[in-house]
Amino acid sequence: KGERGEGEGGRRKPHVLAFPFPFQGHINPLLQFSKRLVSKGLQVTFVIPFTDSNLDLDIDQAQRRLPPTLRVHTITINPDDELKSADDFFNHFEKVVSLKLKEFIHAQEALGNPVSCVVYDSIMPWALEVARDQGVVAASFFTQSNAVNAIYYRVHEGLLRVPVKQEELAVLGLRLGLPPLEISDLPSLVYDFHSYPSSLRHVISRFSNFKKADWVFDNTFDTLEEQVVSRMASQWPIKNIGPTIPSTYLDNNILKADQDYGLSLLKPQADTCSKWLDSKETGSVVYVSFGSLATMKEDQMEELAWGITMSNNHFLWVVRQEELNKLPINFIQDTADKGLVVTWCPQLQVLAHRAVGCFVTHCGWNSTLEALSLGVPMVAVPQWTDQTTNAKFVMDVWEVGIRVKVDTKGFFTRQEIDECIREVMDGERGLGIKKNSAKWKKLAMQAVDEGGSSDNNIQQFVEQLVLRH
Ligand code: UDP
Repeated sequence: KGERGEGEGGRRKPHVLAFPFPFQGHINPLLQFSKRLVSKGLQVTFVIPFTDSNLDLDIDQAQRRLPPTLRVHTITINPDDELKSADDFFNHFEKVVSLKLKEFIHAQEALGNPVSCVVYDSIMPWALEVARDQGVVAASFFTQSNAVNAIYYRVHEGLLRVPVKQEELAVLGLRLGLPPLEISDLPSLVYDFHSYPSSLRHVISRFSNFKKADWVFDNTFDTLEEQVVSRMASQWPIKNIGPTIPSTYLDNNILKADQDYGLSLLKPQADTCSKWLDSKETGSVVYVSFGSLATMKEDQMEELAWGITMSNNHFLWVVRQEELNKLPINFIQDTADKGLVVTWCPQLQVLAHRAVGCFVTHCGWNSTLEALSLGVPMVAVPQWTDQTTNAKFVMDVWEVGIRVKVDTKGFFTRQEIDECIREVMDGERGLGIKKNSAKWKKLAMQAVDEGGSSDNNIQQFVEQLVLRH
């Protein structure tokens, strides 16, 4: 039972090649999904296209924490070759990486461990062609909510023109089973698309061939997006398999969970965070993080900083290294009795900690789903892309948090941050929010438990691969 993933009697297990896009928010869900496949009897090779922006990743260390039938490999892209504009970068990335992916699939065949299926991040739709050329079946893996995908899908189909106009929202909501929307509830790329035209092209390009994939998965769960799921069932082949969170976290078994997550592009200050949290009372800490990519304007950082301190709770705040200089002068020292600022943390461990009472979040899809699945109420401070839509659902559909109000330029004040935190932590609305959070946590667990909707979809996929094998 060695590296080739031999099962009982030396028979080789079906071999999945998992192929994430090299961002933290894309690596995490596919890695957890891969672990799930391994636990159901497959072997997985997790192949990360490596760029200079993720050189911190310590593969050997990560590998030691993963099961032997989940091997991590990297495809290196020469940093000198990286180009500056988004379009240049994506084109170059596709050219270089698709060739290397093809070579990698060949090499596995030569080693006597041929790839049975490629599970690729939907943002790299060209991976389907690479797999097919090698005679390998493939699954597209989506990392945003069904609702957001449904909106992008309509744009792709030419049924929704960008920039979207107010009068189109009613029809959109009706067609997709969405709640009443304002323009600012849509993914920012469809109303502010002049700022990022190539990003919109790339996010919708995943729909160019997704119906040709043998399977299409999304990291969400059916009950979470019931309306969208039922409206879209006849229009697309997406099956929901989330939340891709290890069950040890969902069970609050933090001691075991500690060993479980893996593949962090930035070094988490794990011990510092857990020691600090251990010393705090249950439900007393505000956890603040804006994920791996969002950058804040300096004046907004300042409002956030003073808003958090005004609310007078203990706080654990992730400010990435490159954002630290935007904090008010001496902020870390001056607030040391109340707060801990770290440059990266093991987020699931933090969210699962009994001391955390609320999460001030940018509403990246992973952060949203992680908080919801672990029953942590949110203060939503969306920045762009799908975060605005996720924030809408957090506040008005799942009712597990409050979204901060912003002015016409998108700016929030320290008073608004303070009020939202107080309301979630101690206010009357907070009581209902906490109740709903506990409800969704249960439903998330049900979806991934044996026989749950997401587990069934994963099980069927595994069985189909085993049958073909
Ligand atoms: N994360 C983490 N430590 C941190 C902040 C974030 O491990 O200090 C993880 C988080 O758990 C999530 C991912 O990074 O899985 C961020 O993904 P998300 O979709 O929330 O946001 P993005 O970074 O893509 O904007």
